[in-house]
Amino acid sequence: MFAKVLVDVAHSNVDRLFTYQLQEDSDIALGQRVLVPFGAGNRAIEGFVLELCNEAPDEVLNIKRIIKAMEPYPALTGEQITLAKWISKSYHCLLVEALRLMIPAQLRGSRVKEKTERIVRLSPDTDPQKAMSSLRKADGSSKAPKQTEVLELICNMNTAMSVADINGFIPSASQAINALIKKGILVDDDFVVYRDPFANMDTAPTQPLPLTKDQHSALETINEQIDSGRGTSLLFGVTGSGKTEVYMQAISHALSTGGQAIVLVPEISLTPQAMQRFKSRFGNRVAVLHSRLSYGERFDEWRRIRLGMVDVVIGARSAVFAPLERVKLIVIDEEHEQSYHSDHTPRYGAAEVAAKRAELSNAALVLGSATPSIAAYRRALSGRYKLIALPERVNKSPLPDVRIVDMRSEFLQGNNSVFSAALTKELARCFDSGEQAILFMNRRGYSTFVSCRGCGYTLKCPDCDVSMTYHKYENVMKCHYCGRTAKIPQKCPQCGKPYLKYFGVGTQQVEEQLKEQFPGVTSLRMDYDTTQGKDAHYRILSRFISGEAQVLIGTQMIAKGLDIPNVTTVGVIAADTMLHVPDYRSAERTFQLLTQVAGRAGRGDRAGSVIVQSYTPEHAIIELAAKQDYQGFYEYEIAARRAGLFPPFSLFIRIMFTGEDEHSLECMNTEFASGLKQRIYSALEAQGASKNELLFIYASAAPMKRRQGLFRFETLMKLVRTKHTADVIDAIYAYYDEHRRSEMGNVEINPGDMF
Ligand code: ADP
Ligand code: ZN
Repeated sequence: MFAKVLVDVAHSNVDRLFTYQLQEDSDIALGQRVLVPFGAGNRAIEGFVLELCNEAPDEVLNIKRIIKAMEPYPALTGEQITLAKWISKSYHCLLVEALRLMIPAQLRGSRVKEKTERIVRLSPDTDPQKAMSSLRKADGSSKAPKQTEVLELICNMNTAMSVADINGFIPSASQAINALIKKGILVDDDFVVYRDPFANMDTAPTQPLPLTKDQHSALETINEQIDSGRGTSLLFGVTGSGKTEVYMQAISHALSTGGQAIVLVPEISLTPQAMQRFKSRFGNRVAVLHSRLSYGERFDEWRRIRLGMVDVVIGARSAVFAPLERVKLIVIDEEHEQSYHSDHTPRYGAAEVAAKRAELSNAALVLGSATPSIAAYRRALSGRYKLIALPERVNKSPLPDVRIVDMRSEFLQGNNSVFSAALTKELARCFDSGEQAILFMNRRGYSTFVSCRGCGYTLKCPDCDVSMTYHKYENVMKCHYCGRTAKIPQKCPQCGKPYLKYFGVGTQQVEEQLKEQFPGVTSLRMDYDTTQGKDAHYRILSRFISGEAQVLIGTQMIAKGLDIPNVTTVGVIAADTMLHVPDYRSAERTFQLLTQVAGRAGRGDRAGSVIVQSYTPEHAIIELAAKQDYQGFYEYEIAARRAGLFPPFSLFIRIMFTGEDEHSLECMNTEFASGLKQRIYSALEAQGASKNELLFIYASAAPMKRRQGLFRFETLMKLVRTKHTADVIDAIYAYYDEHRRSEMGNVEINPGDMF
């Protein structure tokens, strides 16, 4: 037998299959990871078995042998191999880079081991009565009191026990245990234990709820798709409309017909609250995968899935690759979230991958959102997706009342606080009635930049082309791109005058002003700075849910998924922070975020009240978000995109060069862009298409010219989306491959941010 192996080395020179011979008696299977001798020096390296064949290919002369299997089971499923090939082609990455997505990083290089625990049990040959008497002297007293004690314990428990547990009952029992093993009364064993990320969580079982009429028909549609093994639906349900309950009952249906399910949620809303709901419904047949797990936990969860101990996987973006073998349903909750797009190689979109995976395994795909992405809603309108609407909240509680406050007139009336008069009044009412509030501020830190009024100097990160943020609690300036910190300047580093002023508001300042205006009111802050520990999210949220604090202040992290009945007031401190970001998606993102935040209010039996503070209250997007008018937003936005020829009517493609030498990067970029332009023109010409389909292409410094100490230059282009687009993209990839250099980044299609 021969195996074709892809070695686990990310280099285009070796991204192909090499043939090896199997050891005589080995039973290596497709998808298994193996150790093989490689290269002239026969260095042992890891690889993936991607094909098995009986005959040696004749072009290969002396075939080397596989050294050994890395695990006793195939790390990859057949479906994963097919999916990886598709990813490598669709996102133009190495096959090995695609395969690496499918397994936990810890598996490679065997960096994490199974955790084992020593357990002991009665030997199958032991008769407890006889054993007990063998430990007694003739007069009935004990020859070895400790051994007797241990044996009694194990007989009474009537099960295998870990040595650690026995020591918990009988201090210093280890010697006695060893003696009993020596006598053949007990046997010991290493037992694999799975580190349990839910260990500290209350997961009392829950039953399916009786569904509302809308939920019921949503479920029927999804179940039909599960049964037929195909179809995508867009579950468009307002916040609190019970989408999660629908997902869970659809999962039950998939399981009851022998299938399995994957649920993707944005990393940020993978809150313990959300996981708890699934865990309580599906018990230990659930695994979670997300980045806050420890390496050991992640590895163990992956292995439980791979070994078939799990039917439901809930996780962030990369859980779409979970090694289940009978997937019948994939759910992507909060489909519109940016975090579903990978921001490093391969730059895949989880929804696209999920669609491919659903096709491969005959599964249904459900995309859920209260604010669907423009792209998804457009597909639903065109009939490519089945549109399912849940227009009402389950408990019929009205969507919260949203008021917009014009912060310009607040300022003119002499109010310099971050809270408008209306928000102050609403907060006071909320606290008086013993209710809770959420304050949303999309920037962390205290002041967003420091500038000199004498000469106009702004303090910037020496490594990145952005201003540094003042953090009052830590008493430093921080760069939010590279994490670099700097001392607070006492005077202007440029002109030496003491005219430094702090501008812009962050979460720390909101917290401080809240304390000033409402002495005695307790608050918690949840942002990147306060959530660094492993369970930090969970701890902050449980303290808030338990009522320990009256206010939760936070960034995007608090906008999603929280379902806290006692929250009646939501304040958006500055609604426009995102609106004026130069990105074609800024309106869409602002609408989504405002709608999500507003949805946190009034989820219990008391009505919610939302106050949105804005410096451009007349902006259509702010008004539409306040009305929570998705249809209105969609029509406004799709018209704007069509008029400006923005995606989905076009696409942006960017190639970013980064490096230390500014001048050589700039030259390389300019040369690259002009060559690429000609190549695109030829590709269009060959199709008989107009050159004008390339709306523009230019070479320039990136808007953020330096980042983490490296210069950044980009070739950016915009193409009309037509039937020629696929060919043009192929031409771009081909040109890119011919000119590939080490400094080169990646070809990015509609990059996640335009900086
Ligand atoms: P969404 O995911 O759409 O925001 P959730 O699934 O979180 O909504 O539901 C909101 C609340 O309504 C939750 O507390 C949930 O337990 C409850 N709920 C959902 N469906 C029902 C139902 N059919 N009957 C009663 N309560 C329900
Ligand atoms: Zn920096």
